[in-house]
Amino acid sequence: MSARRDEILRELGLTPIWRLREGATAAAATQPQAADPAPPRATQPVPARPAQPVAAARSAHAPRAVPKNATPPPSPAATLEPRAAAIARMEWPQLKDAVAGCTACPLHKGRNKTVFGVGDENAEWLFVGEGPGADEDAKGEPFVGQAGKLLDNMLAAIGLKRGENAYIANVVKCRPPGNRNPEALEAAQCEPYLHRQIALIRPRLIVALGKVAAVNLLRREASIASLRGKVLEYQGIPLIITYHPAYLLRSLPDKAKAWEDLCFAVETMRGLQNRQAASI
Ligand code: URA
Repeated sequence: MSARRDEILRELGLTPIWRLREGATAAAATQPQAADPAPPRATQPVPARPAQPVAAARSAHAPRAVPKNATPPPSPAATLEPRAAAIARMEWPQLKDAVAGCTACPLHKGRNKTVFGVGDENAEWLFVGEGPGADEDAKGEPFVGQAGKLLDNMLAAIGLKRGENAYIANVVKCRPPGNRNPEALEAAQCEPYLHRQIALIRPRLIVALGKVAAVNLLRREASIASLRGKVLEYQGIPLIITYHPAYLLRSLPDKAKAWEDLCFAVETMRGLQNRQAASI
């Protein structure tokens, strides 16, 4: 195990539980030892989707399930209320401007900066959090505080890096006061922005970080425990749920579960890429 990897797994609270097998080449090849909990299994099939190798993602020429200029299927722009319909037609520059100037919900009154999202706009991986905290509100970038450090280490543990084939966004773009969860109205007003980001990025896989992201993407109430280990779906895009990094900072035992989720996400991504390779 390299010193860097050792450091990452220590940060995740996963050493000495998880070890890289002899000869394994990628972080994702890490498998549990005999005493480890079994990794979660998909209880729903991974939808067949076009895919491309992780390293080639930025070429972004391989077809994705959501065409670049498509409006989100379950909510065709024509049937959306006018504001959402207008957002559903925006390209990146307009979308960024719209978020920067948004006053659609009361959260705008307390913000210092909007937090649009960051990363590779052609990423295969999309990570969705809840909403900005104080650090993010000050900087205008998601996950830059302690939870962000852990998220970066989680990404590094599976061979990803902020901005390289990964995009990070939140359910709401303005900080809820006192770091409370976003209210339903706030999330609803912000939803068209996230939907448009997803339609523009066309990620191959979405990872929802925590319950707020999960319930908003799935549009149903459920516990994280009941959602983990399954390939769910957001508008035709495979969706995996794991714990929020801020929660993991407080709950050491669940870091091992989050690691299982990340391994499961990597497996799922590989399956999606292999399906694409087989279909070419
Ligand atoms: N928590 C989140 O959900 N998002 C951030 O950007 C920061 C902390």
